Amino acid sequence: MFDVVQKDSEFLAQTYRRFPLQLVKGKGALCWDNKGNEYIDLGSGIAVNTLGFCDEIWKNAVIEQLGTLQHTSNLYYTEPSTRLAEQLCLRSGLKRVFFGNSGAEANECAIKVARDYSQKNKGEDYYNIITLHQSFHGRTLTTLAATGQEVFHKRFLPLTEGFLYADANDLDSVRKLVKNNKIAAVMIELVQGEGGVNALDKTFVQQLAAYLNENDILLIVDEVQSGNGRTGTLYAYLQYGVLPDIVTTAKGLGGGLPIGACMLGEKVKDILDAGSHGSTFGANPVICAGALAVLSQINDDLLKDVCKKSEFLFKTFQGAKGIKSVSGLGLMIGLETEAPAGKIIDECRKQGVLLLSAKEKVRLLPPLNIEMGQLKKAADVILKVCSKEI
Ligand SMILES: *Cc1c(COP(=O)(O)O)cnc(C)c1O
Repeated sequence: MFDVVQKDSEFLAQTYRRFPLQLVKGKGALCWDNKGNEYIDLGSGIAVNTLGFCDEIWKNAVIEQLGTLQHTSNLYYTEPSTRLAEQLCLRSGLKRVFFGNSGAEANECAIKVARDYSQKNKGEDYYNIITLHQSFHGRTLTTLAATGQEVFHKRFLPLTEGFLYADANDLDSVRKLVKNNKIAAVMIELVQGEGGVNALDKTFVQQLAAYLNENDILLIVDEVQSGNGRTGTLYAYLQYGVLPDIVTTAKGLGGGLPIGACMLGEKVKDILDAGSHGSTFGANPVICAGALAVLSQINDDLLKDVCKKSEFLFKTFQGAKGIKSVSGLGLMIGLETEAPAGKIIDECRKQGVLLLSAKEKVRLLPPLNIEMGQLKKAADVILKVCSKEI
């Protein structure tokens, strides 16, 4: 017998603390382990499986493209990535898109564009970028530097220079850094995901956007996790009343396949020219065909549904026994529980519900199209586990 757990410990880099669970199959919000146990998945592969496991429309689009033309390199024109870029621009208000393969890569592109823009327009020493404490922007050396959490930095120094950190919801802390340094851009997550599922204040974001605009400093919004319908609008900034200069996204865009997108606004849309940036696998036709099928299903009906399900979860958990607070936006939800998050997650898994953590919180990122009945059933298990009924 092929013992996956033993072989993993022998042959894979041990970078992940895995749950003791081997998944073998999934459909919609349900999945099954190798012993035949069924689970309701409220993690979506960390906000990746936007439409759950093996969505039919997505699967057919991917298979169709897979049997037609799987890869060409970016030396040739292909239709799927062009259509996807058009859709993203029409629906976001941004003007051009660069495709890579991950969130970190989308953020790398944003950082390169911001530096290029500011150095061209303001001078060579305008390369610094402000990010927020408790942020998460990726694992490459540059996006690690952008990540405002020292725990991730240790052991890998020196990181890319030119990153400074401000406090969330504190415009003065941004102003202070701008006064004393030459700043190209400010990069923020509107809902900090890995940092504890905290949504930024709307007034802070609007005042920040106005302040940056006055000073010709670019606003980069990292929607790698919060994008693609997750918060109840296609992108979270659409409900914050701001138009960023650059928006990055990844996780949920491909519906389960790797893609990252860096969307460029009016100011920066023509900064990148031939040879200045690239990605061999970027804009892959199969993945883009799948992403188009995901995007076409994130319509007004689905987004309304996301808001309805979000309201249901907030109402269910707020003030419930064993739950101290509920945070987040849309179907990106954090629970501060009386018992340690790890314990709640373990017990819920034993009861057939898969959850994530974020810092000290339990994190919920259900597929956007999860059936209401399944969501209610899972919420009931969480309530019972948090109140120690189970
Ligand atoms: C996950 C995440 C990233 C990194 O994405 P990868 O695809 O793992 O490189 C960047 N920013 C945010 C906000 C994320 O949640």
